[in-house]
Amino acid sequence: MEPIVEVKNLKKHFKIKSQGVRSESAVLKAVDDVSFEVYPSETLGIVGESGCGKSTLGKVILRLYEKTAGDVYFKGDSIFEKSKQEMKAARKSMQMIFQDPFSSLNPRKKVGDIIAQPMKLHGFGDKKEIENRKESLLSEVGLDSKYKNRYPHQFSGGQRQRIGIARAIAMNPELVICDESVSALDVSIQAQVLNLLKDLQDKYNLTYIFIAHDLSVVEFMSDRIIVMYLGKILEIADKEELMANPAHPYTQSLFAASPGIDPRKRQQMKAIKGDVPSPINPPGGCYFHPRCEKCMDICEHQSPSEVALTEGHRVSCFLYNS
Ligand code: SF4
Repeated sequence: MEPIVEVKNLKKHFKIKSQGVRSESAVLKAVDDVSFEVYPSETLGIVGESGCGKSTLGKVILRLYEKTAGDVYFKGDSIFEKSKQEMKAARKSMQMIFQDPFSSLNPRKKVGDIIAQPMKLHGFGDKKEIENRKESLLSEVGLDSKYKNRYPHQFSGGQRQRIGIARAIAMNPELVICDESVSALDVSIQAQVLNLLKDLQDKYNLTYIFIAHDLSVVEFMSDRIIVMYLGKILEIADKEELMANPAHPYTQSLFAASPGIDPRKRQQMKAIKGDVPSPINPPGGCYFHPRCEKCMDICEHQSPSEVALTEGHRVSCFLYNS
């Protein structure tokens, strides 16, 4: 099967100017040479602690940020070679659902107008068709169609995220990037929104890139999972394989720290120590070495390359370099 998205050696670095009398510039390597594919109708989960670059990666895939190096192909074409006009057309097929439904919805606009925004931008149809589509989208996400005349502040967090989902699917996209889309919601509401996303995926054959810091949420949603740390991919595998045989010490630490994971599995894993180092000044060698219980001499000086453990299960760690 041909991938719908191919990410090749992608880098996104930001130049940061320090404040003060002698302002010096530094480079923040938010995404640092990552490669992977996403296949039609699958959910590829991306998990990692805050600051690991997963949200930046999502934004570069949609070209909300320009790349520093590498490339992203959507259905075989580089998105960075598209003209403004071509990119506008491609965005119909590539949408994002953001973490904070409140700040991503314009508080001065009625919900119906928010949902209609992409339809107007892409010339969806006449007034009547847009009006009908607004109502069907609201009921599609489990909201009453009469809510179209209300404002975002009149809704709960879960309802606002449903509105964000309605806006994202308005133009029948093929790819939807969910960036921490349920992180701001209560656990019971999270489950409802995750089930809605699954139902919509089945109904419309959607492909998801599902970004979250919570491993149990990523496990629930995903077919395959990428584990990221300081802008790099440490491990990638099918969900079942990763849950049964987490290979990278960092992945194992995420298991130990995730309350939603089977307690028997959790107890077998070592909890992570320390904080994520600054991506502006990452440690030398393996980026994870200052926190790794299994660190060896080589880990402090060299960066491990990716090793295939089984088909589709790849890990970057010297424990597996023969
Ligand atoms: Fe730990 Fe070394 Fe593997 Fe890095 S390469 S995760 S420091 S064992």
